[in-house]
Amino acid sequence: MTAVAQADYGKHCPKYIILKQKAMQKRDDNHFTREFWRRQGRQLLAIAAALFLVLLLAVVYKRQDLFGEYSKNTLVAAQIVVITVFIGFTAFNWRCPACKKYLGKDISKRACRHCKTRLR
Ligand SMILES: [Zn+2]
Repeated sequence: MTAVAQADYGKHCPKYIILKQKAMQKRDDNHFTREFWRRQGRQLLAIAAALFLVLLLAVVYKRQDLFGEYSKNTLVAAQIVVITVFIGFTAFNWRCPACKKYLGKDISKRACRHCKTRLR
């Protein structure tokens, strides 16, 4: 058997194929954990921004001497807009990187409950 034929045989050996599949599986896992990490970061940022804006609007209402006069309706409407945008963003962002299904309430999930992909 020549060296080339031996190398070629090696590639088709079942052991080699299994190792290659395992390596690809691992790379996919890394891809999904990285993507989950990015989504989690965006989600935490969105939670912080939404909380900040809702609280800010409440403060604006309480301290009209500082921020000028806005009617209660305007401020409540603004809060509803903030919350609606936040819910819309969550529906778009907070999904499993593998199966794209909604991830649920837990922000620090270890695995997707639909497809069992490891997320962390
Ligand atoms: Zn999933």
